[in-house]
Amino acid sequence: MRTTTGWRSHDHSTDLRRVPVKRRDLREDDIAVRVDYCGVCHSDLHRIRGTLFDEGDLVPGHEFTGTVTAAGPAVTRFAAGDRVAVGTIVDSCGVCAMCQAGQENFCLQGATSTYGLNRRDGSKTDGGYSREYVLRETFAYPLPPGLDPAAAAPLMCAGITMWEPMRVAGVGPGRQVAVAGLGGLGHLGVKLAAALGAEVTVLSRTPDKTDDALKLGAAGLLVTTDGEQLKQASGRFDLILDTISAPHDVPPLLSLLGLDGTLSLLGYPGEIPLRIMDLIYGRKKLTSSGTGGRKGTADLLAFCGEHGIAADIELLPSSQVQQALERLADGDVRYRFVLDVSDLD
Ligand SMILES: [Zn+2]
Ligand SMILES: [Zn+2]
Repeated sequence: MRTTTGWRSHDHSTDLRRVPVKRRDLREDDIAVRVDYCGVCHSDLHRIRGTLFDEGDLVPGHEFTGTVTAAGPAVTRFAAGDRVAVGTIVDSCGVCAMCQAGQENFCLQGATSTYGLNRRDGSKTDGGYSREYVLRETFAYPLPPGLDPAAAAPLMCAGITMWEPMRVAGVGPGRQVAVAGLGGLGHLGVKLAAALGAEVTVLSRTPDKTDDALKLGAAGLLVTTDGEQLKQASGRFDLILDTISAPHDVPPLLSLLGLDGTLSLLGYPGEIPLRIMDLIYGRKKLTSSGTGGRKGTADLLAFCGEHGIAADIELLPSSQVQQALERLADGDVRYRFVLDVSDLD
């Protein structure tokens, strides 16, 4: 085994402890990565706190960039010194219908999470809030040159979570896209949809973020607490990317969709009250997704490299991880915390 250093939660507290973390010896097709920057995702917070279910103590982190330090003998795509990006999954069966469709993230056998469950032996994996990670080369991606490695880290969870539903819905020129919630996911949704050529509107409860929305590439901001604005926008959008992470009222968003329009719920995984009637008039679609497969992730990185798209981040030394998690819980970040983990050396 190899040993590195990381930040592990205990008793659902955001006061993570600096601890030794074990990594496996390299298999034939493994690479070892020195983690340089790791994003702080809202799901890290949910999972530390055990909001959905209790996973016990964990080393979070599933959107990171780093540098290859060693490669197994069967590795063909990477060599020591290469910059790489790693997202939410690090292994899958490779043969099920989901894997064959390029959606390893939905592997029917269960993908191995970057932190969470290891599909091979049921053990627990430790994530990217650590200085070294070992994974199959198949699940690492070359970091496009020109992208800042710290700002690119959030592309690997927040970015791909926005990208896949947009590609499925055919977002491009002439399409009307709305983004509800302007946080880690939402701000990347605005940038990506605008770069794809769509007209983007931010949906927000207050007009406070109008300037930010415009700077990110939106054409405007619609205040969802303003009945008159809602009425005027009725039937307007082809796709709404709903990134709001707290329980909220979904039918008013459905009313903004046009014929065959899609509402994609991406921020809140719990139950919602809904009448099918809200879908009937306009043949509307309600869907969801989370992160992406290998092909989609590679496509996203290529697109971001070409268009110079990365997250707007606040970079903190990893020793300030508790502050990052607590400010994230308060919604006090524009728009993604990224940890500089070089202080774990
Ligand atoms: Zn995430
Ligand atoms: Zn599979």
